[in-house]
Amino acid sequence: MKDTFIHKGLRKKLVATLQKKGIANREVLAAINTVPRHLFMDSGFLDHAYVDKAFPIAADQTISQPYTVARQTELLEVVRGDTVLEIGTGSGYQTAVLLEMGVTVYSIERQNELFKKTKRFLPQLGYRPKKLIFGDGYKGFPEAAPYHGIIVTAGAPFVPKPLLSQLKVGGKLVIPVGENVQIMTVFTRTSPTNFEKEEFGEFRFVPLLEDKN
Ligand code: SAH
Repeated sequence: MKDTFIHKGLRKKLVATLQKKGIANREVLAAINTVPRHLFMDSGFLDHAYVDKAFPIAADQTISQPYTVARQTELLEVVRGDTVLEIGTGSGYQTAVLLEMGVTVYSIERQNELFKKTKRFLPQLGYRPKKLIFGDGYKGFPEAAPYHGIIVTAGAPFVPKPLLSQLKVGGKLVIPVGENVQIMTVFTRTSPTNFEKEEFGEFRFVPLLEDKN
């Protein structure tokens, strides 16, 4: 597991690409500049690690496109010390980006194979989420709620109510909503009973699956 100057150079270029595509948040760009994305991918795709594209990981899932990770993280509007719940741990790349920003992370994954793999892998790179949960993201993780932010990294056919109810007032749920194409949607909890909704264009994700357990 090596991170060489070649990888560092490629990351710098990736960051420049993301800036050109409109990502402006300094902390997000710094995190992407630091996290060794190539180590989160299967060896067959190492050459592509710093191309702005999504790629297959285990269990028919994907590591999200860097732009998508950057955009969702930026939309969360979290700062150092905040607590975030992530739905869809996958490779752990998004988790690592949030940890790099000084955020406390809880993350849920429903694929046992991926859950076990990523739980072993993240600490090897020095990334320590507060808790990785094997379970159904539709339910959120009420035990550690409320959260400053909740980020869903799979396409949700609808907005799960438990996720809205696990937000702090002022907190944001960043969720791609839709079946084949998803609209990046942000819900801000403006009071205990009110949510403001904003939309940020089309994205494509693997589906957020209903619990099979
Ligand atoms: N954040 C990940 C993206 C992985 S793709 C990364 O950076 O690599 C989306 C992930 O969501 C997949 O791993 C998939 O297994 C998971 N997923 C799908 N439905 C889910 C559900 N209901 N609860 C939790 N995770 C789910």
